[in-house]
Amino acid sequence: MGKTPVNWIDDYFNNYELHKHAFKNVLYQVQTKIQKIIIIDTYNYGRCLILDNEFQSAEADEFIYHEALIHPSFILHPCIERVLIIGGGEGATLREVLRYKSVKRAVMVDIDKEMIECAKKFLPAFHTGSFGDSRLELVIEDGRKYLERTNEQFDAIVIDVNDPLEGGPSYMLFTIELYKIIVEKLTTDGILVVQSGAASITENDVFASICNTLSKVFPHVFPYVTYIPSYALQWGFVMATGNPGNLDITGEEIDDRIRSRITGDLRFYDSITHHALFNLPKYLRADINRQTRIISDKDPLTEHYPGISPHK
Ligand code: SAM
Repeated sequence: MGKTPVNWIDDYFNNYELHKHAFKNVLYQVQTKIQKIIIIDTYNYGRCLILDNEFQSAEADEFIYHEALIHPSFILHPCIERVLIIGGGEGATLREVLRYKSVKRAVMVDIDKEMIECAKKFLPAFHTGSFGDSRLELVIEDGRKYLERTNEQFDAIVIDVNDPLEGGPSYMLFTIELYKIIVEKLTTDGILVVQSGAASITENDVFASICNTLSKVFPHVFPYVTYIPSYALQWGFVMATGNPGNLDITGEEIDDRIRSRITGDLRFYDSITHHALFNLPKYLRADINRQTRIISDKDPLTEHYPGISPHK
């Protein structure tokens, strides 16, 4: 063990539970028009992005989150060519999307220009140069407004925005009205995937409500989870589609598709991980089945976090 670190930052799950990270230094801190951005170098998880007091991504394990977000739906789809990413400011979601040789066009819509500039400068290990890819169209706009105005259809739509914090920029991206708009923007085989917050015994409402709301719009909804060490939480994602025919493939086929469709090596996702992701424990399935809440524009889902502060 080295010298005891002196700087600590708190990541609250709720009023009664938190995860503390020791950090070396604050690289950048700014209040943009949209959100508060903090970038720190931690001892255990490397560089971390924090938005409005919520840990978003950590250099050491962001591959788990971003591979889990993208690959299950992209591998199940027959051939993804056109992709829409809403959010994903670090550029790591885009990085995973651009691994697919079949992708011809990726539109990324993020509400915060300063977030993107900050990612380009401070998070190169996350975006690995993806912002320079000729297949990318980067749009700075509210994702909801973009979806309302675009006439384009996509093979995959990925919603990778902050949790729906009270007063934050993203909570209108979790409503049934938005999901009804999204259905119209997907091709016949199209798949939607949504980062859906914590899926833990104490924090499961967001995840279960998203599943229930999506199930009122899409005939086939598949919740899945994985543990993210830097969050110290199990995390939920939801995949939704109108075409279940896509989903019936063997483990062998998953690994074949990874080999033939993707450039570079994955560290998290393969056929074994795929099956682990979708095998939810009994209590989570029960929570999801019990959930009756439909998130709507009139009654949006909002969370309140007690907040964090770097301190000695
Ligand atoms: N991995 C993250 C997590 O744990 O929640 C989410 C990824 S990411 C850094 C969140 C991005 O969503 C940010 O870049 C933020 O600017 C963007 N965002 C938030 N609200 C948005 C909106 N209404 N439209 C488009 N982008 C939005």
